[in-house]
Parts: sequence; structure tokens; C-alpha cells
Amino acid sequence: MAAIPNMTRLSHAVRSAPVAAAFPAEPLYATWQQALKDAVRDPLLLASLLDLPDRWGTDALRAAETFPLFAPKSYIARMQKGNPRDPLLRQVLPVSAELTPTPGFSPDPVGDAEASLLPGLLHKYDGRVLMVTTGACAVHCRYCFRREFPYSEIPPGADAWDPALARIRSDKSIREVILSGGDPLTLVDSQLRILAERLADIPHLRRIRIHTRLPVVLPQRVTDELLGWLRGSRLTPIVVIHANHAAELVGSAASAIARLVDAGIPLLNQSVLLRGVNDTVPDLVQLSERLLDLRVIPYYLHLLDRVRGAAHFEVPTATGIRLIESLRRQLPGYAVPRLVREISGQPHKIPLA
Ligand SMILES: *Cc1c(COP(=O)(O)O)cnc(C)c1O
Ligand code: SF4
Repeated sequence: MAAIPNMTRLSHAVRSAPVAAAFPAEPLYATWQQALKDAVRDPLLLASLLDLPDRWGTDALRAAETFPLFAPKSYIARMQKGNPRDPLLRQVLPVSAELTPTPGFSPDPVGDAEASLLPGLLHKYDGRVLMVTTGACAVHCRYCFRREFPYSEIPPGADAWDPALARIRSDKSIREVILSGGDPLTLVDSQLRILAERLADIPHLRRIRIHTRLPVVLPQRVTDELLGWLRGSRLTPIVVIHANHAAELVGSAASAIARLVDAGIPLLNQSVLLRGVNDTVPDLVQLSERLLDLRVIPYYLHLLDRVRGAAHFEVPTATGIRLIESLRRQLPGYAVPRLVREISGQPHKIPLA
């Protein structure tokens, strides 16, 4: 190897001089499963990784009893140390406000129980069914409307999908199957490949849509095997990722998204409008701009589903509409997400702006 000129060595030494790290380090793992196993479950550990006073951890303990903390270190690596208002931290840190009962906030705000055809199969909208493939997620989002979903009723293995597949086969009006959860990408590729093959065997199906937060929170999950079965299917694949803030879309998450797009898979993003996370015009403009940098089209901005424990995240509908009007002035039309709310019993998500 050629000798390194002194100048290069000098500038390298300058750049790598120890400075106070602003973000926790992102560890390297052999497999995504190991990354998932090493996710942080202890609020006190999270506080210490982020140089936050212990009281942030202790305050979290009670709320974590109903819905535990769960966040991979790759995601934590994008949180700013010492900042209790970090928009990523707020999405995962349990807080005592979750325990305050609020009228109008219930365990099943979107009527999933009513729309359930079979355990794990929801048919709310024409032409599309949603398969709840697993109860597991790679992160616990504090605002999640499925916080209290009866996941134990979900089929545990491949055979258990038989009734859902039979149902889809018997209904020729279904053209698209949405794999959801939990997060379908917490399942291993061998299982997902089998499921995709069995779906592709149903002649009237045209598309397979995957709703997942893993490319954002556990980027290592975007494996060659995943790209292989997604691309190899007869069904048109569509991946809907879930990012709420531009700061989520850096580093390994940006590379994971690039791999999906380079594989020719259409990528959309859905977000939830969350107080203290993304409820300002600059936050939402940056999110859309960042998505476009990564070749992802903003799809939905959901108003919060009124699930018990999430009231402190709610942004009034009128504020949401005003925010979208500002985005319309500042962004190309295709970069403005549709503001929607899900109302149980309605034939589609309700557009508000
Ligand atoms: C949101 C949702 C869909 C998909 O709706 P789109 O408007 O097509 O994105 C389908 N089924 C269920 C149960 C849903 O909640
Ligand atoms: S990843 Fe999705 S389903 Fe899982 S907790 Fe977050 S919002 Fe809910």
C-alpha cells in the first residue's frame, strides 16, 4: 500500500480527535435477530445511554408495566444525547402521562375487533385485506393504536395461516393483501417467502403490500433474502415504511431504504401526527424533503387513533389541517401527505386535508 502523505494523516488525526459524542454509538451485529435481542427494554439503561438523569428512567417504570419499553440500539443511536425532547426518544420512552385516563381514549379505537374476519385477518376496505402476521414489533411506539391488540389470538406458525388463505382464495374481490402486525418483518424470510408464494398462488391477487417500521428502526433487517422474495414474487410489491421525523432517516436507515428502492420496490411513507414529535411546519417539511431525498413518497399523515395511554400525543384536527395547508405552499404536490383519520365502520380512511 502506498505511503500516506503526512497531510492526510494529520487531517485524519484531527478529525478523529476525541470529542464529546452527541449520539450513542450504533453497535454492529452479525444478524438482525441479534440486533433485535439486544434491544433496550430497561428505561434506566435508555436514560444512561442518552446521558439523561435517572429520573427519566424511573418515571418510565410504571408506564412500562402496561406496555414495555422496547427500542433497538440502532434506533437509539439516532437520538441526541442529553435531550429529553428528542423526537425519536419521545416515540419510545414510557411516561407517566400514559397512565392518566382520558375520556374518548379506548383500547380498540379503530374497530379492529369488529372488522376481524378470522383471528389475524381484517377486511375493512373493498379489494384489500389486512393480515396480522405477528404480534411482534421491533420497537414499541407509545402512540400505537395496537397497544392493546389481542395478539395472543394470532396464528403462531405457517400452517395457522391456512384459514386466512382459504378465505382470501374464496373472495375474488380481494386484489391486494396487506401484511401488517405487529410488524411482518419481525418474521424470518423463510417464513415470509412461503407466505408470499402461497399468496401468489391465488389467481385473483395482484399486489402484496407490506407495512413495516423495520427499515427505519432496525435497518439491518433489509437483507438480500428479503429483497429476493419481494422482487421474485408474481405479485407487485409495495412497501409502506413508517417514519415520523427526518432525524429517523439518517445513517443505516437511509442505506436500508436505498437498497429497497434500488431493488425496484415502490416505497411510501406513513406518519402519525404527534404532539412534541412532528407537529410543526418545519418538522413536517423536513420529513417530506428527507423522504424525497431517499426516493420515498409521503403517503399518509394519520391523526392519532384515540387509544388509551396516548392522549398526550394528540394534535387537534384543526391544527393538522393548518399544517397541511402550510405544507401545500412549501412543497411539490406529491410531497404533501394526505391527512387522514380512521373512523370505525367507514369504507375508507377519512381524508381531512
Ligand atoms: C389502513 C388499512 C388498509 C389500507 O388502506 P389504504 O387506504 O388502502 O392504505 C386496509 N385495511 C385495513 C384494516 C386498514 O386499517
Ligand atoms: S411498529 Fe407499528 S404496530 Fe409496532 S408498536 Fe410501532 S406503530 Fe405499533
